[in-house]
Amino acid sequence: MPELPEVETVRRGLQPVMEGAKIVKAEARRADLRFPFQPDFVARLQGQVVTGLGRRAKYLMADLASGDVLLMHLGMSGSFRVIKPNDEKSPGEFHYPRGKDSSHDHVLFRMSSGADIVFNDPRRFGYMKVIARNALEDEPLLRGLGPEPLGNEFDAAMLAQSCAGKKTSLKAALLDQRVVAGLGNIYVCEALHRSHLSPRRIAATLATRKEEPTDHAKRLVGAIHAVLNDAIKAGGSSLRDHRQTTGELGYFQHSFKVYDREGEPCKTPGCGGIVKRFTQNGRSTFWCPKCQK
Ligand SMILES: [Zn+2]
Repeated sequence: MPELPEVETVRRGLQPVMEGAKIVKAEARRADLRFPFQPDFVARLQGQVVTGLGRRAKYLMADLASGDVLLMHLGMSGSFRVIKPNDEKSPGEFHYPRGKDSSHDHVLFRMSSGADIVFNDPRRFGYMKVIARNALEDEPLLRGLGPEPLGNEFDAAMLAQSCAGKKTSLKAALLDQRVVAGLGNIYVCEALHRSHLSPRRIAATLATRKEEPTDHAKRLVGAIHAVLNDAIKAGGSSLRDHRQTTGELGYFQHSFKVYDREGEPCKTPGCGGIVKRFTQNGRSTFWCPKCQK
């Protein structure tokens, strides 16, 4: 499932063809994805200029001149493809290759920039919804989302406050979208490894009795920032590489330190441990028992 860095990379790939351009034609080729399309979905998009393309957690948000916002979520397998005359690319295709089967092309936006933007989603867990900007605060999909991990408000003090008294594991706390928005299994494993904290550690240990951040909290926030920024940078370079070459955007393999590396040596310098995997809250956790405490 795409996580925040992938969605951010998709945003950066779509921005040049969407921002400032008009949606000349919109097409929903089926009645639903994860949810049914709104009856006025196409009508509210067609003819609208996209004034900005932003992101909140794992949602892409296209601001329209009408005052509406087009909310887009990639779900499990959703991807975009930008087709220009004699050119085609898929922003954000690095760890998650896009669907190749055109029978899964469910949504099309023809832009006045000359580009066709196609949304492909074999498993159809993705969704799109048009919402009035002034109703965003009441939108159930967005309500309750915690702070952006790369935003100014997310710091060690805030993380400590949300984790104070929590008896759940650190892994579960970081996956909780109310604590911090947009992190998934991969980057939580990576951030815990980079901060040398055990995924089994109790979340409450990030806070002192006065709910002040411990050193662990400070280390963890630094690691979350670093892991996400590195991944966004890698995604960005995969976009740049594409522009310098021809054909499809390459399959970018992240240089994960623990994720999907069970049985391999830990990459922490001087550690010498072996990466282990176990199931935690129904999902695979990868970690190094030697340097994560
Ligand atoms: Zn290690």
